[in-house]
Parts: sequence; structure tokens; C-alpha cells
Amino acid sequence: MVSRMTLWRDANPGKAKLGAQRDYQRRKHQQPSLACIKNRKAELQYRQRLRSQILDLLGNKCAVCGFSDPKALQIDHIHGGGYRQRQGVGIDNQYRLILEVKGEGYQLLCANCNQIKKYVNKENRHRATATTLVNEKTQQLNFLEDL
Ligand SMILES: [Zn+2]
Repeated sequence: MVSRMTLWRDANPGKAKLGAQRDYQRRKHQQPSLACIKNRKAELQYRQRLRSQILDLLGNKCAVCGFSDPKALQIDHIHGGGYRQRQGVGIDNQYRLILEVKGEGYQLLCANCNQIKKYVNKENRHRATATTLVNEKTQQLNFLEDL
């Protein structure tokens, strides 16, 4: 048996579409649930904990100039490729990977020194040689297999 709702929808396709769009917008702008907010907060705290472990591991200061405010310290891949790795495995996995390899191949740079390094080395996230891409993909796969 066909429901009255279905019959109405078939008879009024324009109104039905408007209603569906309104419901979609309402749900889209709804406040996230408390559980969702708590979960997000926990994720953020977890990520901050991982980051501070990495900062400790890498010496808590810029490898070039010695700047030590953690707010402006960035985790740098000594040989580049951080952006693509992050795209591949996600930030949490990337942090865990850094801790797993005990910071080997990574260093802390302040935002200025990191930017200067990117400029000098022409580390452009849109340009990559086939070799670096293959190496990074292999590293990511090895890491994910270990999880
Ligand atoms: Zn620096």
C-alpha cells in the first residue's frame, strides 16, 4: 500500500522538494549534541597531548634560531613532504608516526624559520617528484600496517 505521504509527494513535487531542502538546512545548522561536543573536546586534548610529547622529544625549541614559544613551533620534516604525509594518514596518525620513529627525520622550527626553509628549498606542496611520492606512500603503508 502506498502511504498518504507518498501520494502527496507525487502530487506536489515542488512543495515536497522545498520541504526536503528546509529539513536539510534545519539539520545542517542544528547544534551538535553534547556527546559530539565532548568527543571533539577529547580528540582535541588527545591531539594536544601527542603534540606536546613530540615537542618534548624534539627539544622544545627551534632547531635554527632557538625560539621556544610552543605556540609558534612547527614540526618540520627535515626532507620535506609533511603536507602530503598529513593528507595521506591524517594528523593524529602523523603524530603517532613521529613518536614511533622517535622523531627521526623531524625537527622543530619556529614559524619564521619553517617558512624561510620552505622558500629556500622550494618545498611546494603541489610539486613532488615521483620518487618522494613513492617513498612517502611506502612509509605510510608500513605505518598503517603496524597499527
Ligand atoms: Zn627559528
